[in-house]
Amino acid sequence: MKASKQRILLLGPPASGKGTQADHLSRAFGIPHVSTGALLRSECARGTPLGIEADSWTSRGLLVPDELAVRVITAWMAGNGPRFLFDGFPRTTGQAEHLDKALDAAKTPIELVIFLDLSEEEIRRRILDRLTCAACGTTFGGSLHGMKIGDACPSCGGDLIRRNDDTEEALTERLRVYRESTLPVVTYYQDKAPGIFHKINAGEESDTIFKKLSALVCGEMQKEK
Ligand code: ADP
Repeated sequence: MKASKQRILLLGPPASGKGTQADHLSRAFGIPHVSTGALLRSECARGTPLGIEADSWTSRGLLVPDELAVRVITAWMAGNGPRFLFDGFPRTTGQAEHLDKALDAAKTPIELVIFLDLSEEEIRRRILDRLTCAACGTTFGGSLHGMKIGDACPSCGGDLIRRNDDTEEALTERLRVYRESTLPVVTYYQDKAPGIFHKINAGEESDTIFKKLSALVCGEMQKEK
């Protein structure tokens, strides 16, 4: 299958499967995938000043300031050209306006916005069960896969950990921040670009979702009700 959309945003709450789906789509269509959360975690693991500052926000379940998020994504874009699959950016309307301005100036507008929608009950269930590989970032449902903290990642052998913001306390804050700051980004694109905006039920099977997203990337699917 050939991608007809080259600049794609994946929006959605924590644990809606943005990272997993972006990874599959990136492999299937060769579109570079970037997660601002992963970029920030990598800065933090390397102990850079930006990473240390980011950690002081993310560990409390708060968003990093727009300026910081824009800085990491701008650096990524400078090295990657005009094709992208963004996962976790933009997360505020300020970031969305900044991105639109930069893309308009370069005459490379966003071509597809996908909102992965998931109930809060299911978000909580997934997050509190989630294990993440410290080395490659792949995530696993602990109870689903019979895995626990400290096991080896089946993909790369790295250590499985609980992310420092995948706790009950940080999650409550992340959900509040999501409702207050990120849901308005969904409305922003729904209003501004209804023709390229698609809402998908993220509670379905991962494979079913992947097929729907692939069809959207190929320009073959109509809107879901
Ligand atoms: P999730 O979507 O599961 O919450 P992410 O890896 O996307 O996880 O993000 C982890 C954390 O990194 C967020 O809770 C937030 O603190 C920070 N972060 C990621 N992207 C952004 C962004 N665009 N703006 C501000 N903070 C961000």
